[in-house]
Formats: sequence, structure tokens, C-alpha cells
Amino acid sequence: MQRTVVVAGGGISGLTACYHLAKDASVSKVILLEASNRLGGWMRTTRTDDGAIFEHGPRGIRPAGAVGKNTLCMVSGLGLEKKILPVLRSQPAAKNRYLYVNKALHKLPSSIGGVLRTIPPFTKPLFTCGLRDLVASRGTREDESIHEFVTRRFGKELADIVIDSLCRGVFAGDCRTLSLRSCFPFLYEAERRKRSVILGLATGGDRSPQPDSALIRKATEEKWSQWSLQGGLQTLSEALEDFIKEKGVEIHKDSPVTSLERTPDNRWKIMLPGGSIIADHLFGAVPAKVLSQLLPPSAGPMVSNLSQMSSATVAVVNLEYDGEALPVSGFGHLIPSFEDRALLGIVYDSLAFPQHNRSGSSSTRITVMIGGAWFESTFGDSVSSEKLLHLATEAAAVQLGLRGTPSRAIINLNKTCIPQYKVGHHKLTESIASFIQQHNLPLSLIGASYEGVSVNDCIYNARKSVQRLFGH
Ligand code: FAD
Repeated sequence: MQRTVVVAGGGISGLTACYHLAKDASVSKVILLEASNRLGGWMRTTRTDDGAIFEHGPRGIRPAGAVGKNTLCMVSGLGLEKKILPVLRSQPAAKNRYLYVNKALHKLPSSIGGVLRTIPPFTKPLFTCGLRDLVASRGTREDESIHEFVTRRFGKELADIVIDSLCRGVFAGDCRTLSLRSCFPFLYEAERRKRSVILGLATGGDRSPQPDSALIRKATEEKWSQWSLQGGLQTLSEALEDFIKEKGVEIHKDSPVTSLERTPDNRWKIMLPGGSIIADHLFGAVPAKVLSQLLPPSAGPMVSNLSQMSSATVAVVNLEYDGEALPVSGFGHLIPSFEDRALLGIVYDSLAFPQHNRSGSSSTRITVMIGGAWFESTFGDSVSSEKLLHLATEAAAVQLGLRGTPSRAIINLNKTCIPQYKVGHHKLTESIASFIQQHNLPLSLIGASYEGVSVNDCIYNARKSVQRLFGH
């Protein structure tokens, strides 16, 4: 029987853990400790007086698979169904994705025809990469970089152009150092199972138990590609905050955990700037590196594993221009590292979610993502907002023809915001899990540092962790 459960870290992972803990009758008290003055972590939205919405963190959530459906269940539980803004698979913002290569935008093929022909920037039809996968032998290594895997199975051109760009878009990371096994476990499994990735994916499918609800059926029938919410994704973290407050979770903002001590009766003494709290169980929902600095010396080997988990810094520059000015219609474009190391890509927000555009007059909203795994090698320790704004507006002008002065610009430097699962990441997580088990630590680790960086992954893993604690 758990008595007092403390959740350290009030991002989407910590909030989700509180949501499930608050519903469990066997917990008598739940306390959420958040270092900053707000909840939500990287889920952060600016709402302007004229109705425009600017996302500084996540902007779209996928409904597909067990993890996507699990999030939709929580959305229903929070009564947010009417606030959902779906993007349908038939819309350009779902169908059209671009790469910026050799100083030009290239649409990625979205039909069979596009795969059969040679289209720039590629030198041969993309289906030939698939043929290569069908005959390539199964890999033998425990883990390898995403670039090595894709080169081995589909060829170097696909790895250099498409996969390099994709990893910059999803992880703000370098596919030459990121782990295939930890970043794309379904590709790793597909090859293990069927030797060919294509055959493995075609015959595998998502075998995890799939939740069902009216909202999930609606998303499937209407063929949603992704969704956001009225008021932006911060609406989700705000609804979670309201829900857990209502359920009696004690929320402490401006309360950074400063260190953790174990008591002789196997509980935690959680040190805060103004005192301490005793907890029967702790959910660590802070980044792995932060946790490594809080744990007691007795957790030595685990501290060493946690401290090896690094994250990349991303500058997020939101720009708004007068009028509808984009030259193409789609989700956005990515830029491979050989084209420009620092510029990761540009998201065309006003096309995916026009409901978030300002009222009164037409506008174009875009977000320029800068830095990631290349942040330090490009800028050193820090960079001025003026320089970031200059880079972002230059990119908008050169790559999209948006030459005027933006009507709005919001610059955020998100320091160490996206965990980088490097080759061998699975060994770190396995060894941490076995340390917790061997030492019977009353500790659950959740958050983007371990098993998936997407909002869906964070929500799914937080729920699974609460269920595991209660033996469900
Ligand atoms: P965090 O959000 O990092 O929360 C951790 C919390 O712990 C923070 O609130 C922090 O203040 C607090 N904390 C830190 N130290 C302490 C301490 N000592 N004591 C107490 N509290 C502490 N995902 C998608 O699915 N779709 C997207 O479109 C998408 N886009 C993204 C764009 C960007 C720019 C970023 C940064 C991420 C994006 N992601 C996206 C990923 C996703 O948003 C994040 O992985 C997720 O929000 C992480 O949530 P978390 O709760 O695990 O961690």
C-alpha cells in the first residue's frame, strides 16, 4: 500500500503520472514538485490578444498506434474532445513534406508514381532503395547508428538526404550518432523478425493492446494525421493541472528538488530550498542529467549512467508575416546537415493549424528550428537573440521568399530540450532499471530521457509506470 507519492518535475510526464496516481484509491497523498513557476515543461504556448497561437515546444500529436490512442483516451478523460483540431491525411499539411537541398525546395514523394521516377534531389528512383532492403542480409550488431543502418539496408543517398533530415526534424539530432535501436525500435524489430525491414513492417503491425473509444474511432474514420487543441497544446497541460488540483494533488511550483536521501526505512527524504518532504515512492520526471545530480552517493553506478544521457539545445524562432505568403503548401521543410548545419528546418504552422492564425487579417506563421546537435559547434555556449532572429528571417527570405519584416517574432532558446539517444542507449536504461530493482529503490523513472521523446511516448510511459507500481 503506497502512502505518500511524490512526483518531481511538472512537464507532461509528471502531470500524466499525477493524473493516474490521483485516480488510484490506494494512494493517500500525491505531491507534485516543479522547479519553475509553471507546469507543462517544454509544452509552452504564447497566445496573443488577436487570437494568434505560437508554440515554443511541441505543436502536433499523432493519433496513430497504441501510444497515440492512449493520449486520445486521456484527452477524453479531461473533457477536451470539443477542443481538438485535427489535420486530416488528405490535407496538404499532412501529405506534403519538403526538403531544402541544393538551394531549392523538393517535395518528397507522396504517391507510388513519385517513388518509381527519379526526382530531384535524388539520383535514382526511390523504389531501388526498397529493392536493396529486400535482398540485404540481416544485421548482426546489438546496436548501430541510424545512418549506418539505413546505409546498410537502403543505401547512402537515402541516409545522407532523407534520414539525416528526418532525425534533425524529430530529434534535432545527428543520425550518425543516434541509436537505431532506441530511436526507431520498430525498424530494429522489423529487421530482427523478417531480415528485411519492408517485409517486417508489412507483416508486423502494432501488436500492443489497442485502446478503443468514440474519439479513437472518430480519429480513425476521419483519417487524422495529427492534432492540436484550441489555444495550443498548452491547453492539454492546463487541463491536467486543473484535473489534478481538483483531485487533491498538492502542487508546489518554484520548488526545485535539491537532493535526495534514502531513509533507513526505505523511503526518500526529498530536500527542497525551504525544507524537506518524506515520500514512500518517488516518480523522477526530471531530465536524466538533472536526476543524476540529485541522487545520493550510494546510487553511484546509476548516477554515472544517468549523467551520460545528454540533450540537445534548440533555438525556436516563431515568425508571423502579413498575408498568405508561402510559396508551397505542406507541413514544412527539413534541411539536411550537408546543406546547412545550424538550420534544422521550418514548420509552416499557419497551414497545419489555420485556426491558430490571428483574427482580422490574413497571416503566415512559421517556426524556424536552429541548432540541435550542431548548436555548440556553431554558436559555442550561447548566442544572442538578435543573431537567431537574423538567421531565422534570412532563412525565411531565402528558402521561402518571405522577404518583408515579420509582424511578430518570438525567440526562445530551449537549452538541453531534446534527449539524444546515442548508440548503446539501451544498455544505459537496462542497467539503470536493474540497479533500481536490485537495490529495491522506491523510484520510477519517467520522462523523455528514456524511452521515446514524443508527447505520446511521455504520456504512455508515465501511465505504464504508475500501473507497474500498483501491479496492474
Ligand atoms: P520536460 O518537459 O523537460 O519536463 C521536466 C520538468 O521538470 C520541467 O517542468 C522542469 O522545470 C522540471 N524540473 C527540472 N529540474 C527539476 C528539479 N530539480 N525539481 C523539480 N522539477 C524540476 N513532441 C511531439 O510529440 N510533437 C512535437 O511536435 C514535438 N515538438 C517539439 C519541439 C520542441 C522544440 C521540443 C523541445 C520538444 C518537442 N517534442 C515534440 C517533444 C516533447 O515535447 C517533449 O519530449 C516532452 O514535452 C518532454 O516532457 P517531459 O515531461 O518528459 O520533460
